[in-house]
Amino acid sequence: GGIHGDEPCGPRAIEAFLRDAPPVERPVKFVVANEEALSRNLRYVEEDLNRAFPGAPDGATHESRLAHDLLQEIRGLTVFSIHSTQSYGKPFALCDQLNTLARSVVPPLSVEALVETDRFSDGRLIEYPDVLEVEAGLQGSDAAAENAEVLVREFLTAVGAIAGEPRPVRDVPIYRMARVVPKDPADRYEVYVDNFTRVDAGERYAAADGHTLYAEEPFYPILMSPYGYEDVFGFVGELVGRLDAETPAR
Ligand SMILES: [Zn+2]
Repeated sequence: GGIHGDEPCGPRAIEAFLRDAPPVERPVKFVVANEEALSRNLRYVEEDLNRAFPGAPDGATHESRLAHDLLQEIRGLTVFSIHSTQSYGKPFALCDQLNTLARSVVPPLSVEALVETDRFSDGRLIEYPDVLEVEAGLQGSDAAAENAEVLVREFLTAVGAIAGEPRPVRDVPIYRMARVVPKDPADRYEVYVDNFTRVDAGERYAAADGHTLYAEEPFYPILMSPYGYEDVFGFVGELVGRLDAETPAR
């Protein structure tokens, strides 16, 4: 947790889990990544850590050095990285491209969807092997911290690190990030659509200073919000398959 310092749900989930931790079946490392940013409630100190990988030991920024250290710390491990968003209240999982880890671990997690970040993985932790990311809910909310703790338990159970019956699997839709939805400079933004809910061609989906934007083609919004990112509303997603324990998506 704590890749982004203004997303306290991961560190809060770790604290809550460790307060009442069950015995582990094999070693588990809990990492709060950017403590300095976290203590200042900032996304980052000098640059976005989740765009700074692989970083360098003598990197110019705090996050470049941190990215390097973090990669050493997690080398060879199965990684569960916890984030939160300004766009969607329910948890969803993300991976670079559908892989063995996501295939086996995601179905028993309480998530609404799996998102392949695909060509938007550059510089992010998610582009490394055996990394699964989750968005646990809305940034700064108690619900996100509670969801994150549930997800930590479910993940550790699914990988056999703590004892327990894995949660029954369910059918999880898989979306792929296809392109960004650009956002022109404006004072006021609006988003009219719900994430992971199909937008039809011709439907209005957002506005910038009263200038309304209409979909040219059908799409599924991913991580879309008025103010979550500086220069984009979010992403255009494609529904590419479904994931469950029995039938691999492709
Ligand atoms: Zn984040």
